Amino acid sequence: MGECVFCLSTAALHDNQVLSRGRSVYVCAPRGQLIEGFLAVAPYACVGALSRLPAEVFDEIERALATVVSFYRDAYGRGSWLVYEQGRGGGGASTDAVAGFPFHAHLCALPIDVDLHTALARRFTAMEIGALRDLPATAGDAPYLYIDGVDAGGCRRRSVYLPMTPPLRAELERSRLKPLIAALAGLPERGTWRAYPGDAELAALRRRFAQWRGSAPFGHDDRGDPFRQRRDGA
Ligand SMILES: [Zn+2]
Repeated sequence: MGECVFCLSTAALHDNQVLSRGRSVYVCAPRGQLIEGFLAVAPYACVGALSRLPAEVFDEIERALATVVSFYRDAYGRGSWLVYEQGRGGGGASTDAVAGFPFHAHLCALPIDVDLHTALARRFTAMEIGALRDLPATAGDAPYLYIDGVDAGGCRRRSVYLPMTPPLRAELERSRLKPLIAALAGLPERGTWRAYPGDAELAALRRRFAQWRGSAPFGHDDRGDPFRQRRDGA
């Protein structure tokens, strides 16, 4: 089994890629920057999908997302964005059946508008949710794909896509969203981190995030710093 990228103890993520550390979750800049600004929010705990996290963690994840969104608005002038999770481990699977890497829950964010709803609705059943804390009850013990982004009509929706048959469940557990996102964004050659590590974009993102954090008045609410408490105590 490959080492877990999102377990900080493996040091697969360098310290300088971990941009913010909260109580239960952190924000990081992974390799495979499809475009500059690819961020992930992950729990420290090696849990296979967000739906398997305890209820009290979801408010912190929402605050971390608010930080990401503020950063996109301030640093890239983006009023809209894409957030998604490949909840392939939601049914209890702990590793990728093909590549062998461990599933470790992480919410991905990109400062682009790509409609994933239309393509996913052709295969899977959409359940709308209002907040991430509704995810465990909605997904239950199933693998799922979570999309928080605009649809074809330009409406922002938070949807959990679920497989309704065993073959669809197997298909969902094997699915990869990034190649689809890359294709829809007109960058099909950037669909995997191996094909396009995006290290120049990663360096630029780290610099830009540090600048942005440094320019925020300490505890400035508008910057949505979810980790102020932790930093106060550090
Ligand atoms: Zn892990």
